[in-house]
Amino acid sequence: FKVPDPVNEPVLSYAVGSKERKLLQQALQAALAVQVDIPMYIGGEAVRTEHQIAIRPPHAHKHVLGYYHYGDKSHVQAAIDAALKAKEAWEGLPWEERAAIFLRAADLIAGPYRYKLNAATMLGQSKNAFQAEIDSACEIVDFLRFNVRYMSEIYAQQPPVSPRGSWNRVEQRPLEGFVFALTPFNFTAIAGNLPTSAALMGNVVVWKPANTQVYAAHVLMEVFREAGVPDGVINLIYTDGPEAGEVIFKHRDFAGIHFTGSTAVFQQIWKTIGENIHRYRSYPRIVGETGGKDFILVHRSADVKVAATAIVRGAFEYQGQKCSAASRVYIPQSLWPELKDLIVRDVESFKVGPVDDFTNFINAVIDEKSFDKLAKYIDAAKQDSDAEILVGGTYDKSEGYYIYPTVIQAKRPDYVTMCEELFGPVLTVYVYEDGKWGEILEVIDNTSIYALTGAVIARDRYAISEATHALRHSAGNFYVNDKCTGAVVGQQPFGGARGSGTNDKAGSMINLLRWVSPRTIKETF
Ligand code: GLU
Repeated sequence: FKVPDPVNEPVLSYAVGSKERKLLQQALQAALAVQVDIPMYIGGEAVRTEHQIAIRPPHAHKHVLGYYHYGDKSHVQAAIDAALKAKEAWEGLPWEERAAIFLRAADLIAGPYRYKLNAATMLGQSKNAFQAEIDSACEIVDFLRFNVRYMSEIYAQQPPVSPRGSWNRVEQRPLEGFVFALTPFNFTAIAGNLPTSAALMGNVVVWKPANTQVYAAHVLMEVFREAGVPDGVINLIYTDGPEAGEVIFKHRDFAGIHFTGSTAVFQQIWKTIGENIHRYRSYPRIVGETGGKDFILVHRSADVKVAATAIVRGAFEYQGQKCSAASRVYIPQSLWPELKDLIVRDVESFKVGPVDDFTNFINAVIDEKSFDKLAKYIDAAKQDSDAEILVGGTYDKSEGYYIYPTVIQAKRPDYVTMCEELFGPVLTVYVYEDGKWGEILEVIDNTSIYALTGAVIARDRYAISEATHALRHSAGNFYVNDKCTGAVVGQQPFGGARGSGTNDKAGSMINLLRWVSPRTIKETF
């Protein structure tokens, strides 16, 4: 049987005077009034160490939200041991029981934990209320509920033919060993999805979040524990990434990695796994979603207002720190004067500041490293005759890591900020001659190593069709007349190929199938 059809968790608006706005403000105040103590969780035990690290909001780095306990290799080993110890009982549990745990986790997040988790995401990752809501309230809940449904569909799928005198069936075994979930800072939903999707399919997990996402990861773990995830099934550790890798990727029982993060780190992990391949019992599953250099292509038939909205929203939501963020835009000469005005006016109107003032659309970038990198690109553009800064171009890290939303016009389609992933509120625009539509399609396909998201804005059906075909390998998520961010679970399975990852579509059956190893059984009567 299958579990009932899930529906997407409704997005709350946080309008002035609304109940949810008040509750979220209270949760923010509560979080700011205390300093949390965040242990690791290994085998269900809270583990504290001598090495504690302060958590500071990126938009107010003088404030300390709390401290987390940092582990070393011994904790990584302990987490693997705890996972393997929990494995037999977890695997033996009927899938309906696992489903119940994660459906309960979804209800806890949608209900009593909603504001606490949103506040943690807002403060720890510098996300505004709306961006937090679509991430740490709605998307994580959708991941949990839809994955349960997809799991039931996977188990229900059986070979259609069993000739008389026999019975053919497929058993979806969890992987033999443990799964390593290495999760990013930019989405609390992804941080929650990577360990839970593997666990849902009966696997035991070692989970290491980004050091810049610990605060919300801790709240997620609280939810998972309250929902009834048994001790040792998900083990949450805070350590240095490469140090964790040294233990994990040499372990005989390493069965797979569920990763979202940078292309460079993913490629290094892939190499390390290759070097250690002789050590493992099975070929590990390598599932990764990595970088992007996502495009919006405007055709001369486009509605300019639709184009302007798609561009500014796609580029600047969450300070451009989505793998899906629009960071290179191609605009035809004929529409440029009008579009330039609309874009510049919109970007100048964005309020920049901390998350507790809900009128701020732009908050800080995640940390000093990211701030410095972005500032360098901006400074280079100021010097370069191939680039012109149309709006923004300033930054300030005295209180928080603020990069003011910046639009660069590139004179060449291969200008550095048209090609490299910046991961921040910096958009580059290239204006092409209307008649060079065919050439620009080729340029878009060849300019970057990535292929995550992209959009075409056009009214002309031939243009839409041409772009959809010519750019079929340039993006794993392609949008027509919309921004290229904001994929919704159950609506647009998310992921890209080429340098953007293994395209195992988060929030889909394809993804869950990576966490099982089927056994076919033929019985003859
Ligand atoms: N799924 C998100 C979106 O569609 C992006 C995920 C990411 O940044 O990794 O915007």
